[in-house]
Amino acid sequence: MDIDELNAAFGKAFGRRPVGVAVAPGRVNLIGEHTDYNDGFVLPIAVDLATRAAWAPRDDGRLALASLQQPGKDAEIDLCEPIAPGEPAWSNYPKGVAAMLATSGLELPACSILFDSSVPIGSGLSSSASLEVATGLALLAAAGKDMEGYKLARLCQAAEHAFPEVPCGIMDQAIIALGQADHALLLDCRDGQARQVPFNDPDVVLLVADTQVAHELSGGGYAARRDQCHAAAEKLNVAALRDLNTGALEAGRDHLTEVEYRRARHVVGEIARTLAAVDAVEAGDMARFGELMVASHESLRDDYEVSCEELDAIVAAALACDGTFGARMTGGGFGGCAIALVRTARAEAVTEAIQTDYEKRYGRRCPVFATHAAQGACYV
Ligand code: ADP
Ligand code: MG
Repeated sequence: MDIDELNAAFGKAFGRRPVGVAVAPGRVNLIGEHTDYNDGFVLPIAVDLATRAAWAPRDDGRLALASLQQPGKDAEIDLCEPIAPGEPAWSNYPKGVAAMLATSGLELPACSILFDSSVPIGSGLSSSASLEVATGLALLAAAGKDMEGYKLARLCQAAEHAFPEVPCGIMDQAIIALGQADHALLLDCRDGQARQVPFNDPDVVLLVADTQVAHELSGGGYAARRDQCHAAAEKLNVAALRDLNTGALEAGRDHLTEVEYRRARHVVGEIARTLAAVDAVEAGDMARFGELMVASHESLRDDYEVSCEELDAIVAAALACDGTFGARMTGGGFGGCAIALVRTARAEAVTEAIQTDYEKRYGRRCPVFATHAAQGACYV
C-alpha cells in the first residue's frame, strides 16, 4: 500500500488526513537464539517489512486505534481514565504502550492512529514489537516529544509483558528501535549495550522462509525453556547462564538434570557462537558465519528441542544448494521462519529449491523473501 492509499484509508476511518506516519520494521535474528533471557548476546537485523502508524490529533480527549489487519475491530479509550487491557485483543499491544508512556510521565495526546503492516502476523518476524514501537513513535510525535531508542524499547517490552501478557525478551523491541540500514545489531541483553556491526556485503543476501506453522507447543514450550534455564543457573550458583563457560558447565554437570544440562549447553554454546559470528562478519568470512549458523540450528534442534520438521526441512533444502553459506531456524521456534545466507547470484535458485521441496513434502507453498539489513524505526 503506498502513502496515498494509506492516507485514503485513514480518511475512511477517521474522516481527515493524517498529520504524520511512524514506521517500525520487523526483524530476524541472524544468530543468538534463546540467549536474551539468559543475559546473553543476540545479533538481529531489521527487515524490509514494516508496520506503519498514521496519526492525527483529536479534540475529544480520546485515543482511537484501528488496524487494516483487524477490520471491524477498532478500539477507543478515554484518556481521562486509567488504561486497562481488554477487547479487542490486538489493541492491547498499542494500549500497553500508551499506558507505559503515561507511567513514564508523558501526558498522552488525544489522537487517532491507523496501523497498516506488511510484517506477517504470528510468523516470528515480530509483528507485535513492530506494532509497539510504531505506536510509541506515533504517540511521542503527537505529543511533540522524543525518546532515546533503547528506553523506548524497554518501555515497549514492559507493555508487552503487562497488557497482552507475553513474557518476551528485549531483542525484538531493541533491534526495531535501534536498527540501522546495512548493519546488524550486537546487543548485550544483560546491560543493553549495543554495537552496530556492518552487514552489507552486496554478494550475500539473506533469505527468510516462512513455514506458516505455529505448533500448539509454542506458548508452554517457551516458558518451560525459560524455567529450565533459570533452574540450571540457580543450581550452578550463577546469576544467569551467561556467566558460565563450557568448562564451568561441564564441572557442574552432576548438579543438573539431563534436560537442564542440554538446555544450558545450548545457551553457553550459542552465546560463544554469536560473538564468533560477529568476528566472522567483521572479517567478511561468510563461510565461517555459515558454519556457525548450522551449528546454531543443530543445537536448537537437538539440545534445546525447539525446531520442528518443517524448519529442519527448509534448512536441509537450503544447505543442499550451491551458494548457501549457512541456514538455521530463527526466532522462538516450533514453527515460524528459517533463514539462509546465500550468494546473491544464487538467491533465486535457492528460493526455488526450498519452495519445490516444501511443496513436495507439505502440499503447500512456503513464502520466501530476500532481505538485507534494513533501517529501524523512523518517521516518514
Ligand atoms: P509475531 O510477533 O511473531 O508476529 P505475536 O503472536 O507475538 O507474533 O504477535 C502477533 C499479534 O500482534 C497479533 O495476534 C495481533 O494481536 C498483534 N498485531 C501485530 N501486528 C498487528 C497489526 N498490524 N494490526 C493489529 N494487530 C497486530
Ligand atoms: Mg511477537
